[in-house]
Amino acid sequence: MLYTIPDYYHEFSCIAGECEDTCCAGWQIVADEAALKKYKKVTGSFRKRLRRSINWKEGTFKQDKNKRCTFLNDENLCDMYTALGEKSLCRTCKMYPRHIEEFEDVREMTLSVSCPEVARILLGKKEPVRFLTYESNKEEEYDDFDPFLYSKLVDARTVMIDILQDRSKKLALRVGLVLAIAHDLQVRIKRDDIFSIDDVFEKYQTENAIQFVEAKLAKEEDYAFIMKMFQNQYLMERLRDDWEPHLLEAEQILYGESGCYTCDKKHPWAYTESREKTKAETDKKKYMKNRQEFHSWLKEQMPDYEIQCEQLLVYFISTYFCGAVYDGEAYVKVQMAVVSVLLIHELLMAQWLKNEKTLEMEDIVDTVYRYSRELEHSDPNLNLMEKLMRRDIVPWFNKS
Ligand code: SF4
Repeated sequence: MLYTIPDYYHEFSCIAGECEDTCCAGWQIVADEAALKKYKKVTGSFRKRLRRSINWKEGTFKQDKNKRCTFLNDENLCDMYTALGEKSLCRTCKMYPRHIEEFEDVREMTLSVSCPEVARILLGKKEPVRFLTYESNKEEEYDDFDPFLYSKLVDARTVMIDILQDRSKKLALRVGLVLAIAHDLQVRIKRDDIFSIDDVFEKYQTENAIQFVEAKLAKEEDYAFIMKMFQNQYLMERLRDDWEPHLLEAEQILYGESGCYTCDKKHPWAYTESREKTKAETDKKKYMKNRQEFHSWLKEQMPDYEIQCEQLLVYFISTYFCGAVYDGEAYVKVQMAVVSVLLIHELLMAQWLKNEKTLEMEDIVDTVYRYSRELEHSDPNLNLMEKLMRRDIVPWFNKS
């Protein structure tokens, strides 16, 4: 068995009560069978508390009205850990924020940026992320696993990460090239032409391809696309109650009385037919002006911001891309990575405007881990995001 980890993997250790948030609230923690068996056998003074704090039918820890795990105390420390020690924790609690993607004979281990401490480590890292591998003697076989497609996806991911980490190119160009590669790859996967995938890698190393992508990027208008991606978030399941008000506020700051296509109830400024076109134009102009100013501010005041975006893109692509071996959806996984970083960027721009045009590193950490929690800790949200990425292709691919 081959194991891979990013090079910052061992830098993490939980800061527990020092953490500005907690990973024991907002989502339902499911205990594994082995842990439940162990809990049934616990004796002593903690037994009673344990019996009444678990939903035995569902195998979950009960929560209070604020969706906090019933074992979490006011100091944000776990009472079960204190009473019974680390070994008593269920697999979910022991593992978090470690995340494992499983493939035949391969385990890809990452750390989830939904933990603020992980987000801080990743966003504070200046050097390109490297991936380390080690082997064990274990072997396993999966039914319906296509090792050839998997090996091509691994190659494609390496090429895309190399491009994303090529800091001699502008970030927008790197992103454009990666999307273009994923797009062409998808065409080949669809026509079951896996053998020709290597041609795609070669094609996007050429000067012609780079010029082609640059020209497309220069021509396209992205305002409507960004707004649509932002509003797509209202279609998602909510994990934290404070997320939707946060989105609504950011949306209003960014786009003004924008027309929401996802619903007509949630927004006081929702779209109506009678809405004046001129107002929409004014909102757009204001947005474009703010964006330009924000980008100049970032260049001057946060010179490492582009590196942080690169680290996030590499994080999303390294975590999810090879999952395409199970569903053949390589392109949507890359677009999900790009759109996620785009949305984090939009939320940060709103925060910058709200903070009277300034931003701290902690604002970035906060936005990244909160966004990641809503998306990455909900399977329905991850599935919906992929579905939306299939429907709403980055504009310049629709015209190719
Ligand atoms: S979110 Fe991260 S740092 Fe905070 S308590 Fe959980 S594992 Fe520890």
